Amino acid sequence: MTGTNGASKDRSRSPKKVDPTKLTEADLADGFSASEIFGSKTTMSGYTYDDLICLPGHINFGVHDVLLGSRFTKKIALKTPIVSSPMDTVTESNMAIAMALEGGIGVIHTNLPVETQAAEVARVKKYKAGFILEPRCVPPTMTVEELDKLKSTVGFTGFPVTENGQMGAKLLGLVTKRDTDFVQDVNPMTDRKTRLSEIMTPTANLVTLFEGCDLLEANDVLQKSKKGKLPIVTRGGLLVALVARTDIKKNVDFPNATKHPLNKELLVAAAIGTRPADRDRVKALVAAGVDAVVIDSSQGDSVFQHEMVKWIKSNFPDLQVVAGNVVTKKQAKNLIECGADALRVGMGIGSICTTQEVCACGRAQASAVYNVAKLARQYGVPILADGGISSPGHIVKALSLGAGAAMCGSLLAGTSETPGEYFYSEDGKRLKRYRGMGSIDAMKKGSDDRYFGTAAVIKVAQGVSGTVQDKGSIHKYIPYLTQGLKHGMQDIGAQSVDQLQSMLQEGQLRFELRSAAAQREGGVHGLHSFERKLFDS
Ligand code: GDP
Ligand code: 5GP
Repeated sequence: MTGTNGASKDRSRSPKKVDPTKLTEADLADGFSASEIFGSKTTMSGYTYDDLICLPGHINFGVHDVLLGSRFTKKIALKTPIVSSPMDTVTESNMAIAMALEGGIGVIHTNLPVETQAAEVARVKKYKAGFILEPRCVPPTMTVEELDKLKSTVGFTGFPVTENGQMGAKLLGLVTKRDTDFVQDVNPMTDRKTRLSEIMTPTANLVTLFEGCDLLEANDVLQKSKKGKLPIVTRGGLLVALVARTDIKKNVDFPNATKHPLNKELLVAAAIGTRPADRDRVKALVAAGVDAVVIDSSQGDSVFQHEMVKWIKSNFPDLQVVAGNVVTKKQAKNLIECGADALRVGMGIGSICTTQEVCACGRAQASAVYNVAKLARQYGVPILADGGISSPGHIVKALSLGAGAAMCGSLLAGTSETPGEYFYSEDGKRLKRYRGMGSIDAMKKGSDDRYFGTAAVIKVAQGVSGTVQDKGSIHKYIPYLTQGLKHGMQDIGAQSVDQLQSMLQEGQLRFELRSAAAQREGGVHGLHSFERKLFDS
């Protein structure tokens, strides 16, 4: 078939020469827009984050210029679009404080008695950078020997001495290393039995400040007096806080913190159920100062939830309500029309969850996020991509598909701010527990409302219980995640989340689906062994 004839035929078929400088945007568009991928009627599949890849765009800004500001609800903006899940192994007050300081927000789980959950919310609202609001106190009757034991378990050596050994009681003095070091062991049998009242520095000789002072004043007093600890007291002498010089020296600044614009309190959310008793829970949470409630249900489009959203919006119109979970446009429309200020999107895709296996219901997460976000955008309601996020790249994809923020469980589990103690595995790894709220363990503690199991004779698990490795502090981990996010957005050519989402709407954001081989190629491959270090700090 070769020869002159064949060759001339081929030449006649070659495309007309085009001037490459005249190519239009459409000529140069590689890949597909999200509406082409998710709107295609030829494929009947749902897609996950890993099925997709974002194609790179043009970079004309530095990575530090990328802005991650986005929305948690209609009225709550975040500088870091990451939310910690309402799970009993993820978010209580320590986590919520750390998340808010880093520019995200934490949702305190609801597997707690009402008063305890409200107290957790109040702890976040009372938080003041640099002030230890619940310092460990000791009674004057405690012996030096008992104090030695306490010091070895808590990791600090300075303690306020109060009348009854509790916080909030009358301050009698302060006991620090300087006081205990002078108790010589001349006679170890008796000297370590000395009572703190005999060796403490009494209040009359202490430098203190009255409540209402700010950190600048506290700093000034500590510097001038050269003391290590500064008790803060009421006019009546009751202890309200302690300031440690070491904390002020760290000079920790959180420029992204999620704070109330006027009173500067950190913002916090809390989870609730949809039972009648949850109305009392809402009242207690509001009294404690909660900024948003997040309704915990794996299938949010129920009359119970509709009633709850309407009740909250008519009784507490200023309280932000995050409803869900939903994965379809219809479910979303129903909840938005009841008054939801944001939606949680995701069903059966969490790392610990077995809903899709047990109940045959759910949706692949990229499809759910894209479709629900598209509908919710028309109402101006942000959505949270909830679950299935195991890397910064997944957060980039969630935002690229229209999410206002990513809600994460396993990604944040194992950080030092989560509830629970670390323990070691047989091979020496430092671990923490992480469990689904629909696991049997969690349901036994009360979270069965979410999975409609309270009155059930047999509790059907929709989650598992497991462990995750130590990830260190949120104060290092969130900066790692946000830096990854910024790199991803820079590669795409979007300098802000707003720009990313307008690119999505206008079809400038291009995606491709990845075959199984392409997914393998996109991960680490071909090595005998490797060690994954997430960041260098
Ligand atoms: P100390 O002089 O041995 O008491 O310890 P430092 O003042 O050098 O450091 C104590 C650290 O522990 C500071 O970062 C405190 O914020 C922190 N901390 C947390 N809770 C408490 C508490 O109840 N009492 C004290 N003294 N420190 C606490
Ligand atoms: P992850 O980030 O670990 O992938 O998923 C966390 C999310 O999974 C949570 O925010 C919550 O929506 C969901 N979830 C938590 N516990 C369970 C459970 O036991 N079963 C199911 N189906 N979902 C759960």
